[in-house]
Amino acid sequence: SATISLYSLLLLLSHSFPSMSQANCLADQVNFVVGSHVWVEDPELAWIDGEIQESNKDEVTILFESDTRVLRKSANMYPKDPEFPLAGVEDMTRLAYLHEPGLLQNLQIRYSINEIYTYTGSILIAVNPFQKLPHLTGTSTMEKYKCAAFGEQSPHPFAIASSAYRKMINEKRNQSILVSGESGAGKTESTKMLMQYLAFIGGRAETEGRSVEQQVLESNPVLEAFGNAKTVRNNNSSRFGKFVEIQFDQKGRISGAAIRTYLLERSRVCQVSDPERNYHCFYMLCAAPKEESGKYKLGDPRKFHYLNQSNSIELDGLDDSKEYFATKRAMEIVGISSEEQDAIFRVVAAILHLGNIDFVKGVEEVFDSCQPKDEKSYFHLKTAAELLMCDEKSLEESFCKSIIMTRGDTITKSLDPNSAALRRDSLAKIIYSRLFDWIMCKINDTIGQDPKSNSLIGVLDIYGFESFKTNSFEQFCINLANEKLQQHFNQHIFKMEQEEYKREEIDWSYIEFVDNQDVIDLIEKKPVGIISLLDEACMFPRSTHETFAEKLYQTFKGNKRFNKPKFSRTDFTIKHYAGDVTYQTNLFLDKNKDYAIPEHADILKASKCSFVSGLFPPLPEDATKSKKFSSVATQFKLQLQSLLETLNATEPHYIRCVKPNHLLKPGIFGNKIVLQQLRCGGVMEAIRISCAGYPTRKKFDEFVQRFSILEPEVMKECPNRKTACKRILDRVNLKDYQIGKTKVFLRASQIAELDACRAEVL
Ligand code: ADP
Ligand code: MG
Repeated sequence: SATISLYSLLLLLSHSFPSMSQANCLADQVNFVVGSHVWVEDPELAWIDGEIQESNKDEVTILFESDTRVLRKSANMYPKDPEFPLAGVEDMTRLAYLHEPGLLQNLQIRYSINEIYTYTGSILIAVNPFQKLPHLTGTSTMEKYKCAAFGEQSPHPFAIASSAYRKMINEKRNQSILVSGESGAGKTESTKMLMQYLAFIGGRAETEGRSVEQQVLESNPVLEAFGNAKTVRNNNSSRFGKFVEIQFDQKGRISGAAIRTYLLERSRVCQVSDPERNYHCFYMLCAAPKEESGKYKLGDPRKFHYLNQSNSIELDGLDDSKEYFATKRAMEIVGISSEEQDAIFRVVAAILHLGNIDFVKGVEEVFDSCQPKDEKSYFHLKTAAELLMCDEKSLEESFCKSIIMTRGDTITKSLDPNSAALRRDSLAKIIYSRLFDWIMCKINDTIGQDPKSNSLIGVLDIYGFESFKTNSFEQFCINLANEKLQQHFNQHIFKMEQEEYKREEIDWSYIEFVDNQDVIDLIEKKPVGIISLLDEACMFPRSTHETFAEKLYQTFKGNKRFNKPKFSRTDFTIKHYAGDVTYQTNLFLDKNKDYAIPEHADILKASKCSFVSGLFPPLPEDATKSKKFSSVATQFKLQLQSLLETLNATEPHYIRCVKPNHLLKPGIFGNKIVLQQLRCGGVMEAIRISCAGYPTRKKFDEFVQRFSILEPEVMKECPNRKTACKRILDRVNLKDYQIGKTKVFLRASQIAELDACRAEVL
């Protein structure tokens, strides 16, 4: 089919061209006309503008606001658009000069007048305002978008949702909206606006009980209570990915929904560092009224190890006791009964109590042995067992002793205090992740799927590309997701470009394109991708992260996308589309294992509370060892595969969220920060793809208006705008441009040539 051949074309092309990290639309050609303005690359501000004062053979003298500099002509410079619109443009592809500094200037101008949304073609770029902007929200705003065609109203998530909805109805095609960006960029807020809008146009008067759309909207606070936390980057950071599929009936009304979540960050349950927090639900429950929190033997959050490792307990502007009630109300709306709520809170509380069990060396004369430290530890052990309704003694033993199965025999081995604490943490993490999955399944059951639905809109809110000082297994998985989404994005943008050329009936024989299939293969190809090797290492009892890393070095030696850092014996570097990331392997093996220690599973399966035992369903008897082994990375890979299959069967829409500063404050626009995100989000790549063809497109009218000065008689002699355009272009002796049905298509740098001629005439 068409997609397959396109795909193989991309693959072919990907091997013939090196990757370029930025949009390089204007080849090398800058016209160094004295008096003209240029953008010059700057290490601090990314791009600054100056005026050319003098131009010699190799050098130009440029006057900046702060100083004058002499620069070599080979320095990174772009011409500045002499006609740049004062209030910027709503769609960046309408900029005459499609280059980095132009994009930045446009976004910045718009941001300064609180216009935070801008299109790049059909992609919506949303710059986080870090303040409430009433002119952009609310029912009256949604009303405006309901009746307007795409492009008629200012750029907005509502316009994207509206366009997706209309296409779904008119073209009977499933749609998806992909929201991406780094943490704190505004993905979740944008997603909520999309869902709010879809509920607004696809809602119906309340039937019996709760309406589907209300339940869809109320699933947000529930999932946020259990899956969001304060981080350095965002006070309400979602620690999981989410895909919400909203189903519609024949009449275009919401008739069902399905929520899928991805890769909840588990380590946070046991480990938080200043100034971050654990998941919101823990603090909420501690702040519940006395009679409630007392039931679970909770109180001051500072008394719990899983919370007090960080000094951030209270958050400005967040009242945990209020949140407790809000969450309970939302839970009720999504169909979680009060008995179930009680069970959920018991489990949450039990996790906090587990965290307070400390271990010390045992009194037994055994080499390694341990026991709960003191009265206090025994109290928390007892409380945890009570809350989980399981046997206290077995729970204790499951921490302090390990049972090793050999052929037909079992050996009990005493553990040291350190190992006991690790087992305690692994229990806490697995219970929490099962609890989160249960909540998601419950919400899906309540909202219900519409088996008759034949159209849907999917909304994806997923973590963006991550590259920190230290990167672990989570970043590895997240970046795999981003590689796959990036590939999907590139393919789509490439296709859209071609469609525009076809619509305008111009030739488009050749566009270069960089595909990232090779990175994806490196990570997930079977049997020798990084994930396969990791799973293999996890199944092998003697493996360590050192042997795993060694295996990677051997296997991927010479791989263009893989590197062993010089001074490390256990790190590895992947050359991702958005840059190099070095991963530390030390926790990879542990974090990839997804099974409960058998002793733990047995104890919880035997819980007298059916809710708790239900979190640990029995494995099928005949499961082989490799089936029993369940790996986080492989599960995630399969989830991504199915996500991409879903997405591939939809028409995608993109929202790229951008965080303009790291202070989380309004009004500050950091050029370099923004640029970096535009690169990672593929906006630059999208522009580069369009630059490889004909980046400048001007409607005939616009073109004639701007350039008729080059051929003053043209308007009298050519009644037809199209021929007028051609006359002007020929006059300047441009080659290789194309004239479509409604627009002139220019090659990179051609608009600069035209402007230079125009400047001479003026
Ligand atoms: P992400 O999901 O990308 O990590 P969020 O959507 O949680 O980021 O946004 C982080 C914070 O930024 C929000 O808590 C809110 O304070 C602010 N914010 C984001 N988008 C908007 C918006 N459209 N209007 C006002 N504030 C916003
Ligand atoms: Mg979020």
